[in-house]
Amino acid sequence: MPLINNVDPVELAKFSDVAHRWWDPESEFRPLHQINPLRLQWIDEQVALCGRRVLDVGCGGGILADSMARKGADVLGIDLGAKALKVAQLHAIEANTAGVQYREISAEALALEQMASFDVVTCMEMLEHVPDPVLIVKACAALVKPGGHVFFSTLNRNAKSFLFAIVGAEYLLGILPRGTHEYARLIKPSELASYCRMSNLGLQATKGLEHNPLTRRYWLSSDTSVNYMFATKKT
Ligand code: SAH
Repeated sequence: MPLINNVDPVELAKFSDVAHRWWDPESEFRPLHQINPLRLQWIDEQVALCGRRVLDVGCGGGILADSMARKGADVLGIDLGAKALKVAQLHAIEANTAGVQYREISAEALALEQMASFDVVTCMEMLEHVPDPVLIVKACAALVKPGGHVFFSTLNRNAKSFLFAIVGAEYLLGILPRGTHEYARLIKPSELASYCRMSNLGLQATKGLEHNPLTRRYWLSSDTSVNYMFATKKT
């Protein structure tokens, strides 16, 4: 049964073990804090978040969910990591963020409960941690309203992404803990595009996220060879 099986306990544990540090901008979550303003702006430019009903799938400690709520969206963040969700909830209370809620439920289960309910669905840096990303894409497509938008981000699979995202980030520079990403689970843009097509999600825009490890700067570009994002629309 895909509903209960499309989760890897080892992957969940990686995030759970360090969940208390989600909001520490100098922790292993530093890259997510750094890319957040970039991805938030890109999403906002395309869907004008204010007033939208938004679902953030695999929200973790709520870095993106919280920031989308601060743009005026009505956000539900879901994850299967109970500790991360607690941290996200606490952060919302401490930071006084209105319009964000969190729930421990899979995208597949929520799709049975709230089909075609969201204007926007985001699923960032999560597909590469699940056994069957096709089922997550399918669930996101079921959750968004017809004509609504679904955003994905993940890591490309090629020699350069292996060198930069795994060898460089995890082993040479220690930006991420070792074992954060498993090469075989990375997803090529062509593969993600085909998963989207299978779910009636039309690809509208693609963006690359580049990083200079020396200056520790991130920026958006057309280079999707390592980290990249997709903007899609449900037909
Ligand atoms: N999307 C967030 C966090 C990315 S980290 C951001 O970009 O800021 C990856 C997250 O995916 C973790 O919080 C982990 O608990 C979650 N995750 C992994 N497998 C999952 C699954 N099958 N269902 C829901 N969440 C999952």
